[in-house]
Amino acid sequence: MPDYFLAHLTWSELYDLLNQSRPCALILPVGSTEAHGPHLPLSADVIIAEEMAARAARTLELRGESALTLPPLAYSVTDFSEGFAGSVSIRAETATALVRDILLSLIKQGFKLIAIANSHLEPAHIATLRAACEAIKVETGVEIAFPDVTRRRWAKMLTDEFQSGACHAGQYESSLVLSARPELVREEIRLALEPKLISLSEAIREGARSFIEIGGDQAYFGNPAAATAEEGDRVFDILAGMIVTALDELKRFSN
Ligand SMILES: [Zn+2]
Repeated sequence: MPDYFLAHLTWSELYDLLNQSRPCALILPVGSTEAHGPHLPLSADVIIAEEMAARAARTLELRGESALTLPPLAYSVTDFSEGFAGSVSIRAETATALVRDILLSLIKQGFKLIAIANSHLEPAHIATLRAACEAIKVETGVEIAFPDVTRRRWAKMLTDEFQSGACHAGQYESSLVLSARPELVREEIRLALEPKLISLSEAIREGARSFIEIGGDQAYFGNPAAATAEEGDRVFDILAGMIVTALDELKRFSN
């Protein structure tokens, strides 16, 4: 599979791409460094975001369009996993400023077709992405494609477990990591985990503020033991399709 990673190009190669007649779409993968059960790596969200971005870039290239993925963001607001070793949370204003500054820098260079491939679902984090997109729109007029899977329109395309809200390091995310980076999944541990069918989204609506408070003392919700690489592969195509659709809508909007 060809490499769609922008940072593997030289500046002069990118300059040529930017000055070709067809616009080059950029996709920013956004994840977190966060506890994902005793069976998935802290980088689970980064792995998921990068793979969905890469698949979206490949789809666009296969259609004859030009697309690259940006170096991923691995730090976000991750307050729910406070208390778990290795989880790193940054302040909301830092997160918003980081995304805003990155996008603004690229827009100033002439990139106008930009999407966010986000895999970290904490509401306070999603709010930082929305705020960054809003700031960019106000400052430059450029709309950013951000298919937010926590919104009904996109969520209904995903699996039953995802829609149940019991979806942190459960069947949904474990399947995705099994598909993209199987060597990083602790299989023996995963297969022995009991299902934890507690809806994170409901608990959050009721005011919960941490995994531990909701009963996720091992930082997972859902059913990791039921995960399969096949499910992950299927879901990655759906996630990549959302990025492509959101970019297509941008193009229609800007025409
Ligand atoms: Zn995750």
